[in-house]
Amino acid sequence: MENFFEDDLRYVWHPFTQAKTALPPVAVVKAHGAYLYTQDGKQLIDANSSWWTNIHGHGNSRIANAIYSQFKEIDHVIFAGVTHPMAVKLAKRLVQLSNQHFARAFFSDNGSTAVEVALKMCFQFWYNMGSPRKRVLALEGAYHGDTFGAMSVGQRGHFNKPFEHLFFEVDFLPFPDENNQDEILVKADKLLSSGEFACFIFEPLIQGAAGMRMYDAALLNKFIEIAKAYQVMTIADEVMTGFFRTGTLFACDQLHYKPDIMCLSKGLTGGVLPLGVTMATSTLYDAFLHDETAKALLHGHSFTGNAIACAAACTSLDILMDAETQEKIFQLTTWQQHFADKLKSRQVFHDVRVCGTILAAALPCEQTDYFAEIRNRAYLYFLEHGVLLRPLGNVLFVNPPYCINEVDLDKIYSLFISFAQEIARTK
Ligand code: PMP
Repeated sequence: MENFFEDDLRYVWHPFTQAKTALPPVAVVKAHGAYLYTQDGKQLIDANSSWWTNIHGHGNSRIANAIYSQFKEIDHVIFAGVTHPMAVKLAKRLVQLSNQHFARAFFSDNGSTAVEVALKMCFQFWYNMGSPRKRVLALEGAYHGDTFGAMSVGQRGHFNKPFEHLFFEVDFLPFPDENNQDEILVKADKLLSSGEFACFIFEPLIQGAAGMRMYDAALLNKFIEIAKAYQVMTIADEVMTGFFRTGTLFACDQLHYKPDIMCLSKGLTGGVLPLGVTMATSTLYDAFLHDETAKALLHGHSFTGNAIACAAACTSLDILMDAETQEKIFQLTTWQQHFADKLKSRQVFHDVRVCGTILAAALPCEQTDYFAEIRNRAYLYFLEHGVLLRPLGNVLFVNPPYCINEVDLDKIYSLFISFAQEIARTK
């Protein structure tokens, strides 16, 4: 392990990183609870749950035992033409958690593939029905992953410019604010009434990568109502919002109208193993039942339904539903809300907002995009003070593991204030 840092610089290609100018990576040698421990002996609070995945804290012993027990039974088997108890248990559990609204679970490996599968399900649904629909509706600022379908339905810009000519056509609705809601609803109705749209995809209640931008459940409800009126499939990308991040098990639990498809990943396994799931209603599933093989969803990954990942997910759900975890989620939500109220009264940040366990606030500055210079300053400031926090442009946000304690949260909160003061001082 000694030379791993040098070897990293020599052999590894990191995600979302311009290696020529980036700071060297933080060398983590241990992760436990809400903490990461670095090679040079520092303890860091994992304030963004390791890319929004880790909901129960690192090294959870119940998940560790589930993984080890499963490994001894079945590690991994092909999932086409074969089944095994853990995948079935997880699929049944997810269907039950939706009160049977969803009928089927299709497994893949991550958030992008869960979205990719959802899009393919929709396009092929219309193809199988004999009336192909090609258009897709999404929201400006959307992020749904880095594979081609997922990139196509995401915000066009810096991240995907080299590939843009390869994307399929997507119509984007403006992101809702207080003033444009009626206008967007009219636009959505006009577009969807054309009968050309296969689906409408959205991140329910919060757009993550766009800067933890929050919007109203009542408005989303209306979008889905319109889509349903024109038989347009709706895809809720709950990759980030799932598993109580927004205060309810799924963000869509706060809606009256339910989506036809739900994409899950990140917190699904407690954030310890890669796994994606695309949940579909029976209407969708039934459209693939046919005497012709080509009408099936001819899609699958080598690690589809991986038994160890499914075991981790089942145990993560057990932990999630425990009264103790529910209490922690409630506490975290309350702490975040209190701090947001405090921040609002101090007026050092813009757009202070909370949704469930997520708090976000924008630093006042001119450059607000993902590459805003202040982002790197904030990142370093928190790192130097023992907190790993990955801002999105000028937006600082906290979505920690649910096991975080009040002392650590207070430390993060005071850094919010001291950093804003420092920025104001050095302007
Ligand atoms: N959808 C949403 C809403 C996401 O936030 C992300 C990842 N941040 C993805 C999809 C893609 O997930 P993954 O990185 O696991 O491919």
